[in-house]
Amino acid sequence: TSDYRVAVFGAGGVGKSSIVQRFVKGTFSDNYVPTIEDTYRQVISCNQKNVCTLQITDTTGSHQFPAMQRLSMSKGHAFVLIYSLTSMQSLEELGPIIMMLKEVKGSAIGEVPIMLVGNKKDEDSKREVSTAVGTKLSSQWGTGFIETSAKNNDNITELFQQLLSREKKRQLAL
Ligand code: GDP
Ligand code: MG
Repeated sequence: TSDYRVAVFGAGGVGKSSIVQRFVKGTFSDNYVPTIEDTYRQVISCNQKNVCTLQITDTTGSHQFPAMQRLSMSKGHAFVLIYSLTSMQSLEELGPIIMMLKEVKGSAIGEVPIMLVGNKKDEDSKREVSTAVGTKLSSQWGTGFIETSAKNNDNITELFQQLLSREKKRQLAL
């Protein structure tokens, strides 16, 4: 079976590990666990009658060395860029990530599935980034956009469904 590699990027504390854990294990923890880069595998359907291995790499965010970020980018087929909607700063930190992605992927960037994700949708009283700002940025960047809550299991499956549906070279589905 062939691999389909997804890398997750974002500042520390935005909920990268929580989103991946929620998606692959269906669990959520309130405790902050600093991650060592970790990869999770799941079988998905590929071109109707075949299967592929969906490989999701939960990166360590800002603790990752630029050379490692580049490597994750060059190996990855698709990308999830996460900020916390309670932190404008965390959205700003995605700027250099998208720049680096464009540089690494070059002219192929238009065909690379990317989802911009505003996590912690359940914390609306602490919101610093409006839905409109996220939507506008995603259209500037040419990415998909979704707001999620790993805590409430809101839009987590949808996030990965939308990511896979952006892949035009293979027909991928959960
Ligand atoms: P990472 O550094 O990006 O991997 O972030 P973590 O997944 O470790 O999460 C950082 C903190 O945010 C933890 O305390 C999580 O419990 C919390 N968290 C993650 N997702 C959500 C969410 O959707 N809502 C709320 N309220 N807290 C969240
Ligand atoms: Mg983490």
